[in-house]
Amino acid sequence: MNLIEAVNLSKVYEKKDNTVTAINDVSFEIKKGEILGLVGESGCGKSTLGKLLLKLENATSGRVIFDGEDITDFSFEKMRTIRRNMQMIFQNSPNAFNPYFTVKQIVMEPLNSYTKGEYDKKEKEIEEILSKVGLNKSYMSRHVSELSGGQRQRVGIARALVLKPKFVVCDEVVSSVDYAVRNQILNLLTELKEQMGFTYLFISHDISAVNRICDRIVVMYLGNIVEIIPKIGNKALHPYSQALFAAVLVPNPRDRQKRKVLYEEYEERVAFGSGCVFQNRCLYAEETCVKNKPELVSLEGRSGHFVACHFINKTNTSC
Ligand code: ADP
Ligand code: MG
Repeated sequence: MNLIEAVNLSKVYEKKDNTVTAINDVSFEIKKGEILGLVGESGCGKSTLGKLLLKLENATSGRVIFDGEDITDFSFEKMRTIRRNMQMIFQNSPNAFNPYFTVKQIVMEPLNSYTKGEYDKKEKEIEEILSKVGLNKSYMSRHVSELSGGQRQRVGIARALVLKPKFVVCDEVVSSVDYAVRNQILNLLTELKEQMGFTYLFISHDISAVNRICDRIVVMYLGNIVEIIPKIGNKALHPYSQALFAAVLVPNPRDRQKRKVLYEEYEERVAFGSGCVFQNRCLYAEETCVKNKPELVSLEGRSGHFVACHFINKTNTSC
């Protein structure tokens, strides 16, 4: 059963001298209890998509369905009842905490905003969630400024999860922590999911983190979904996904250069609607890729695997 669905979602930012299509006609769903990975280079629209699902930003067009209900046109007031069930953990949210606040004050805040329980009861809930993220009671009275980066990230997770939301968007939560802390946080997120039944959208440009904890992976390029990979271990077929995955999974850097895929940072955005979004960087691109935009289609015999590429046969044999 689906917890959240995006239906033809688009987001256009109008700027002074140009417009940016941050998200272009994107549809997918996240099942209850699933960890869906969202990957792609910086600027491809990952955070924007997370915010659209939580209605922290309004979509330019398209719909968002949460738990069977179309919330697209919900007012701010109506969203309040839904919002406690949807939380976002940002990469830098721990840095945004007031350093003079105690851990208890920080985790208490969402409880004060959304619940009417007695102080003692709230305190108990805070104690409980802190112990779940591996911080004992003594941390309640500590100030944020006394904590390490990893401990702050745990407080950030506790704060997002204290209301027991149904859906959590984790946006680059392991990007700025060292390797050991990263592994602890990844384990923690999966353990909490099992214990408390959360559903996550796990946004990251760290492919190996995504590979480790996600059930399915959505690959995005310049605001477009180019591939949905149903299970870890399934071969990526879009040339862009192959490039993205190869850059991480090939242990020897010299081998990376031998790969038959282009992998350079490419800032300029091609105009949408004029062929494939990846045409400028793709080694397989032919005339049809310039003229015709490939649809995201389901692959025969591979349930749940979707790719938007004219030349899947070529990419399937070469890499
Ligand atoms: P990612 O999270 O993948 O790095 P973002 O979702 O932050 O990407 O950004 C996608 C695109 O939308 C970028 O080109 C970015 O500059 C643009 N963008 C994001 N937020 C805004 C905003 N509030 N106003 C204007 N442009 C924005
Ligand atoms: Mg981002």
